This record gives sequence, structure tokens and C-alpha cells, in this order.
Amino acid sequence: MRILDPHIHMTSRTTDDYEAMYAAGVRAVVEPAFWLGQPRTSVGSFLDYFDSLVGWERFRAAQFGIRHHATIALNPKEANDPRCREVLDEIPRYLLKDGVVAVGEVGYDSMTPAEDEVFAAQLQLAREAELPVLVHTPHRDKLAGTRRSLDVVRESGLPAERVLVDHLNETTVALVRDAGAWAGFSIYPDTKMDERRMVALLRDHGLDRMIVNSAADWGRSDPLKTVRTAHAMLDAGFTADDVDQVLWRNPVELYGQSGSLVLDPVPGFVAGEVPAPAEFEGSSVHRGARV
Ligand SMILES: [Zn+2]
Repeated sequence: MRILDPHIHMTSRTTDDYEAMYAAGVRAVVEPAFWLGQPRTSVGSFLDYFDSLVGWERFRAAQFGIRHHATIALNPKEANDPRCREVLDEIPRYLLKDGVVAVGEVGYDSMTPAEDEVFAAQLQLAREAELPVLVHTPHRDKLAGTRRSLDVVRESGLPAERVLVDHLNETTVALVRDAGAWAGFSIYPDTKMDERRMVALLRDHGLDRMIVNSAADWGRSDPLKTVRTAHAMLDAGFTADDVDQVLWRNPVELYGQSGSLVLDPVPGFVAGEVPAPAEFEGSSVHRGARV
């Protein structure tokens, strides 16, 4: 089984997670730029965060045999904070960096005028950079938020096949599929979408343009939810090829449109062995200790 988790915030996770993910078949991830849980107070905080997504985190994942990619954006929640707005001028140069496969997460949190403006501006950045876009749908008022997001995407002129609309459920899936966009589902341990409901959605809507992620972050979440969904599919009678389509080929096709996915095995990596003492800007995953 090979898995690409197309939405996971590895910066908030431990090396144990990387090891468990690799052992279960996860070979590549995409980490969207998002909120820290508390407000950033200056543009510099974003730049250090973006640098870590394309630098240290990419290095750290490779130490555990996993190919790491990022999506870059001003997230919907902080679009409302005027202290953060200038980061929009910095984003274009990050979109050119190695391992950046999309603009995201963009979209709505509370559907404010400031969010409207930042969402539309970032869709234009994606257009200019010819990159896919990851659209986050709000956790409150999801149906209205999804509808409005699709309208804004349509007005932007971005081709639907480059758009992934994420955090969907039974009430929003048809809207996104009818629009021709990719439908993303975040599988959580105790709220919202779970594996069983996901399998039912795949049965009802088919496998094309369907994307499953763990969305694991600093909150209650499980970085193996992609794997658990794969097993739930097999238990429900889907074939190994079906699993490969949903958990690997679909996200590869979507983010592959960036031309920046790296999917070959990490050279020299041996599962279960302590990673070689390679360094990134003078730091290693061994915190200075040599092995
Ligand atoms: Zn997220």
C-alpha cells in the first residue's frame, strides 16, 4: 500500500508519527500553511514559518523516508488581521520554491469582507503561478461557505481541475463535484467525517476526483487516518487498486499539476534504522548528538 497524505500539519507532529506513517505505507505528504493556534503579530512570523515548511520540515520528513511538500498562503482566519496582510506581497516568491505544490489553505473562516478580498487575491496568485489551489471550507455554516467559495473560484477563472475543495461532508460533496473540482475529505477521530462515512461517500459518488486526508495538526487528530480509511475500503469490498487510486494516484494527479512533486524513494533511507546524521543548516534530528 502506498499513500500520499494530501493535507497534514507535520510541524505539529512528532518523529514517532513519521515512523508510524512510514511503517503503514505513507511515502509522501503535503503540508498546507495554516494558523498556529494563536495569532501571529507580524509578517516575519509567516516568513519563518514558510521557511521551515520548505526547509527544516522537508529535511526532517526525508530523515524518516517521507517526501514532504507544502502549500503556501495567508490562511482564512488571519486574513482578518491587518498586521498579517502584507504577507501577500511575499507569497509569490515562496510559490517558486522547491517542494511547493499549491497555494493554500485559502477560503473562508467567518466569511468577512477581508476574507473575500484575501481569497480572491490569492486565487490570482495561483493563476499567475499556474499552481493548484487548496480551498478550506468553514467548519461553521459549511454549506453556505462552500457555495460561496465555488462562486469565487468560478469568478477567478481558475480551471476547476486545479482546485481542491477540502473538509467536505455529505451535504457539500455534490456541489463540489458538480463544479468539476476535486473533493477533499478530512477524517477525524471524534468529530465530523469518519472512515465509515467516507467509504459510503466513495460508494455513492465513485472514486474519481475524490481525495482523503488526515488533516492532523495540533488538535485531536490522527496521522494514520488515511491508512485507516484504506483498510475500511478493503473491508467494504473495494480492491487494492481502488485504494491506490484514492490514496495515491488521485492526490498525485492533482498536485502533480504543479510539476514539483517528488515521489522517488529517499536515497539511502532504511526503514527502522536511526537516520544518518545528515544536517540541515547545522541541525540534525539528533539535536547535536552523533550516532
Ligand atoms: Zn489544515
